[in-house]
Amino acid sequence: MTARILSGTEVARQVRERIAREVVALRESTGVTPGLVTILVGDNPASVSYVTGKQRTAKELGFYSVQDDQPADVSEDGLVELIGRYNDDPAIHGILVQLPLPKHINETRVLYAIDPDKDVDGLHPMNLGRLMIGEARFYPCTPFGIRELLAMADVETKGAEVVVVGRSNLVGKPISMMLVQKEANANSTVTMCHTATRDLAAHTRRADILIVAAGRAKAITADMVKDGAIVIDVGVNRIGMTPEGKAKLCGDVDFDAVKEKASVITPVPGGVGPMTITMLMANTLKAARLAAERK
Ligand code: NAP
Repeated sequence: MTARILSGTEVARQVRERIAREVVALRESTGVTPGLVTILVGDNPASVSYVTGKQRTAKELGFYSVQDDQPADVSEDGLVELIGRYNDDPAIHGILVQLPLPKHINETRVLYAIDPDKDVDGLHPMNLGRLMIGEARFYPCTPFGIRELLAMADVETKGAEVVVVGRSNLVGKPISMMLVQKEANANSTVTMCHTATRDLAAHTRRADILIVAAGRAKAITADMVKDGAIVIDVGVNRIGMTPEGKAKLCGDVDFDAVKEKASVITPVPGGVGPMTITMLMANTLKAARLAAERK
């Protein structure tokens, strides 16, 4: 079997079209334009590139967007104060602080300072707690993108054996918690694996849906995958440079071999990545809608 390649680029395009239409409808019916601020501390090239992509997408979709650049030596108190100002700004519905932050800043304190109603990255403990009890308001963007990809590809999650490789707060834990909920596009039996898992392959081979977020290039080989499985590769590993000087990327899954066994597989790049920014926009639109309802 050769797998269907599930293009996140294409699904993201469809979701963005829907968001752009909904932005217009929200503005017409309530006068509210979704507002997103991205806060960048320092000039780490990868962070600059992520923030630039987020700003570009926000503008394309008709959002009010603000790019707030802070020097690398900004103090923790200064950053918390800045977030407080955006918490109080009615034109801003979503606040994104680009991670990682410089070493002298306590990331947890900064993320906890964001008003949970404006936490469009979905990483505030209030939002992660709500997700766990089945009352989610904002899902973290990458897991949200994975769930959307599965839904748009008509993958049956109800009763499916889902194996997640990785237990980070950013990807592994939230996607596991999302897919185990008794609701549409979820209701799966979920196993979470990590570096202390005794026989990783024994788990991955059982998976109807295998989601890999380990950050290890080609950690999942064809012998670890069941025939006909749906494979979602979250990993982004830099494995050198192209002749044009761009980073060469690969996922956590040995794509060429696994695509001959799986029924559906996401590529890297062009799989989960494009969905992450898109779901940030979906969360910001939702935050704006909730703010409009409160007016
Ligand atoms: P992370 O915080 O480093 O977590 C990796 C997880 O994988 C850990 O739980 C670790 O186990 C587990 N793990 C590592 N090697 C393993 C192995 N050989 N067998 C079993 N488990 C293993 O990473 P993350 O933030 O979740 O990100 C994971 C990958 O996704 C990275 O490549 C990252 O760049 C990528 N990513 C992509 C996007 C996107 O938008 N495309 C977004 C976020 C992340 P322990 O807990 O035991 O250490």
